[in-house]
Amino acid sequence: MDNKVKIAVIGGGASGMTAAITAARYGAEVTLFEKEERVGKKILATGNGKCNLGNLDFSMDQYYCRDKEKLEKVFRVFSVWDSISFFESMGLMVKNKNGYLYPYSEQASTVLDILRMELVRQQITVKTGIGIKAARCKNGEEVFELTDDAGENHSFQRVIVACGSPASLKKGQGMTGYCLAEGFGHRVGRLLPGLVQLQSDESFIRALGGVRCQAGVRLLVDGEEKAAECGELQFTDYGVSGIPIFQLSRIGAKALAEKKDVEVYVDFFPDQETKAYACMARLRFETQGDKNLEDYMTGLLNKKINMVIIKRLGLKPGMRAEEIGWEKIRELMQICRQFPIHISNTNSMENAQICAGGVDFAQVGTELESELVSGLYFTGELLDVDGKCGGYNLQWAFTSGYVAGRNAAGSSTREIASGSGYEEEKLKGSPIC
Ligand SMILES: Cc1cc2nc3c(=O)[nH]c(=O)nc-3n(C[C@H](O)[C@H](O)[C@H](O)COP(=O)(O)OP(=O)(O)OC[C@H]3O[C@@H](n4cnc5c(N)ncnc54)[C@H](O)[C@@H]3O)c2cc1C
Repeated sequence: MDNKVKIAVIGGGASGMTAAITAARYGAEVTLFEKEERVGKKILATGNGKCNLGNLDFSMDQYYCRDKEKLEKVFRVFSVWDSISFFESMGLMVKNKNGYLYPYSEQASTVLDILRMELVRQQITVKTGIGIKAARCKNGEEVFELTDDAGENHSFQRVIVACGSPASLKKGQGMTGYCLAEGFGHRVGRLLPGLVQLQSDESFIRALGGVRCQAGVRLLVDGEEKAAECGELQFTDYGVSGIPIFQLSRIGAKALAEKKDVEVYVDFFPDQETKAYACMARLRFETQGDKNLEDYMTGLLNKKINMVIIKRLGLKPGMRAEEIGWEKIRELMQICRQFPIHISNTNSMENAQICAGGVDFAQVGTELESELVSGLYFTGELLDVDGKCGGYNLQWAFTSGYVAGRNAAGSSTREIASGSGYEEEKLKGSPIC
């Protein structure tokens, strides 16, 4: 008689494939349902097609989750080092670029190919083009019945829900996972776009469209600074984008949803020490003061930024710096370091890389099993755990997939909960390139 545990994984993304592979490696008979014609579509878009699959600079600070203690316990079971080993076990060479991890090929398709090959190697039944629209648990029998889009029923002993989120999908798509979870009595928290562009209603914003520059960016909510980032800022026709904006966007999205006032303050000279900058500004006035403002600003910032700043202070490009006087010029130089932009909205979920919110993490255990229904597990972005830009979301997908897959297969991760981890010593002598 076949004693293998029969597991269904709903969703063939990063977390679902990891869960399926892990469960099969631990002896389960696994069927993976993917509603699209191919598994892992989102992986192909990650890291601008290069797939930033993890990050060695790892701590709970990179994650948003209401129970970081519990989250840390999950990561201790399967850390960034474990995911490197996991990929190496499937034949993928991993590259370390200043802590950011990529496939050696720098092609996201390689990561997907490796996962797909392992699905075959582990003899997992992959049913593509089949979406699961309903799931229920027969009372007391430990049997889950899944109904697919065609109305066909499938029975399993355990179910891992790995349906992802609506982020980057067309409006209305990507919601089934939450419906399945709610059907089992799980709470689903408010969904907000994360890692997304910010829109501004400032009249000058269109004039800056297309400008890219290194900048320090601070996010203020109701006048109070909440977070700061540094990196390449990109101006668009409607607002601001780029990695520092993505990193701040989650806090902005939450504040906007709560009807709070959101602003970003841009420092266009992030690498200039305050005193040295003040000296430079004074010297510039003494040596270049004979110029009109347009020429005076030339040599400092992008021309479009210069013009917006001049106009913002109510000045005209043709005015001579000396005539305006030092006090006003000082103001001009200061605003270059604290340039306020009012934020009116975020771009929509369709433009977001991730979705903040989801299935309440409080209702799953450290094994990622439902606390309401035994044998039911959740992984990845479907849960209300999300990370910053830099490989942290795929890391969560791999970690949660591994933990759910292993536990669903009946091999507890509890006993190894302190055996792994991301301690600093492990950074030394890393085998990766
Ligand atoms: C443009 C972009 C770039 C990104 N870049 C990075 C990056 O470089 N590094 C990083 O760490 N993260 C990145 N992310 C985020 C990362 O891709 C996701 O966090 C991660 O893929 C989530 O994995 P998941 O398995 O939870 O969900 P998904 O990958 O979304 O997988 C869910 C799967 O379930 C399927 N599905 C849904 N409902 C059903 C159903 N009812 N029945 C059957 N199948 C179903 C879906 O079709 C999908 O294939 C990026 C995201 C985007 C959009």
